[in-house]
Amino acid sequence: LPAIFEPARPVLQQIENAGYEAYFVGGCVRDTILGDHIHDIDIATSAYPSEIKQIFKRTVDTGIEHGTVMILDHGEGYETTTFRTESGYQDFRRPDKVTFVRSLSEDLKRRDFTINALAMKENGQVIDLFDGLSDLKKRLIKAVGDPEARFHEDALRMMRAVRFASKLDFAIDPATVTGIQDNASLLEKIAVERTQVEMEKLLLGQNPPRGLKAMINTGLYQYCPDLSDHEAGLQRLAQCTHWPLTTNKAAWGALLFAIGISAKQSSRFLRDWKLSNDLISAERAILIFLKCAVDQKVTAWDLFECGQNNLDAASEIALLFDFDQGEVKSWHDQYQQLAIHDRHELAINGGQLLKNTSLTPGPKMGKILDRLLRDVVAGKVANSAPALLKYSEQLINQGDL
Ligand code: ATP
Ligand code: MG
Repeated sequence: LPAIFEPARPVLQQIENAGYEAYFVGGCVRDTILGDHIHDIDIATSAYPSEIKQIFKRTVDTGIEHGTVMILDHGEGYETTTFRTESGYQDFRRPDKVTFVRSLSEDLKRRDFTINALAMKENGQVIDLFDGLSDLKKRLIKAVGDPEARFHEDALRMMRAVRFASKLDFAIDPATVTGIQDNASLLEKIAVERTQVEMEKLLLGQNPPRGLKAMINTGLYQYCPDLSDHEAGLQRLAQCTHWPLTTNKAAWGALLFAIGISAKQSSRFLRDWKLSNDLISAERAILIFLKCAVDQKVTAWDLFECGQNNLDAASEIALLFDFDQGEVKSWHDQYQQLAIHDRHELAINGGQLLKNTSLTPGPKMGKILDRLLRDVVAGKVANSAPALLKYSEQLINQGDL
């Protein structure tokens, strides 16, 4: 049993001592067997939420209506979910009814893929009712039971299939691929926020081309926001070789760049994907910068406007699209050498301008400050108060602002 499970073992033992079953389930079991890093531990139990709360003094109701209670133990929180079945799914996205059950097999049956339907006892013994271990070995994503029915129940599972293909670098089982092909349009029933999460994980996975090709081959991309006209662009992205990307900025930027969305069009696209305003403004900066890079005219000002963080993302995208490595490195070197990296670093402000030059209050002041900023960044004038005041006086006298 990997070390990360150790602190959770006593929690499972305590539930068992009270006469219930408890298992590690889902992604943490899958990733352990694959030898991958585990980011969170999920526990499934036959105990009802009220019973869990009797066993443990300190709990938090994180999602009690779905059966999830967080157990607090030695400063750690453990998400524990009661075995449950789901039924209804009238709207292709969420069950009309969740029923708590006492049987592990019922709970595993409702899970999406065989590799996600493994459970592990506190002693490390794996419960494998759907041949998930064999599919892990074969590196295969396969729906539990009838793919068609499973995608009807919850259409998000189709996006999850393609994101796991990328994340784990697994193939998708042929019958599951067919199930996606036949039901792709149901993805439109799913809240965009949820599709967005899967898309981002796909782009940040181990093998995004694998997930992207599956999206293209199954037609799933046609039911994602604003992608239906962009098969060629998605193909272009799937042809890239220098993966992985490491940040969400790089991920969405690479998608936008690949499908040829301009800085101006990008807000609309990202808004349709329900992404945050922060990300939207970052992507605009990234796309503006990449356009300069494509046109081979990156200036100090372009680097300054882009900023370190966005420049890192732009660089990842540039390398993904086979820009010259030396050129990408030179952006960073040039960026480091900029006299200032933020407008607040300018050595004088408006008040000092008024006090020490012939300038009178008015709109001209903002213009001069903008010009000073540009010229400091361009290296035309030193960023020191005396130099800037002298330079400002010249600008005022020239009157060519
Ligand atoms: P990740 O490493 O991305 O967290 P994960 O497998 O843990 O992968 P989660 O979304 O955290 O994925 O879900 C935990 C588990 O819950 C899954 O392994 C799966 O068993 C089950 N599950 C999650 N979403 C669904 C779904 N839409 N349909 C069926 N089962 C699901
Ligand atoms: Mg998880």
